[in-house]
Amino acid sequence: MSTTDCLFCRIVAGEIPATVLRETRTTLAFRDIDPKAPVHVLVIPKEHYADVATLAEGDPGLAAEVLATAAAVAEEEGLLGDGFRLLFNTGTYGGQEVFHVHAHLLGGAPLGPMLTSNLS
Ligand code: AMP
Repeated sequence: MSTTDCLFCRIVAGEIPATVLRETRTTLAFRDIDPKAPVHVLVIPKEHYADVATLAEGDPGLAAEVLATAAAVAEEEGLLGDGFRLLFNTGTYGGQEVFHVHAHLLGGAPLGPMLTSNLS
């Protein structure tokens, strides 16, 4: 996918508005447009990588910067005391819809079990 076709690249470029909470030289954190928890923030590298596996393989230092930005936003949003969830939906089984890697930072209320079991 070219970056001009990528929704999150267009947010990085300022072509699509977003509620930005934190920006570093290499990362951006903005509120999810359809929040699934009282706090729901997406944290992305500005550079386009399709998913977390590709990012970790291609630039592990940048992956660490995404985690550091997520932790800083968790602190700023007051999530450190009660805790939060940080997850990367990846690929078809992971339910990924936007193929520019993003961490979902979720918190502000009890989040319930991680998954409803599909194993039975
Ligand atoms: P995923 O299913 O992990 O790929 O998550 C994609 C997320 O992007 C969803 O939680 C959407 O609500 C969110 N999203 C889609 N469009 C936007 C947008 N323009 N601004 C902020 N979040 C968005």
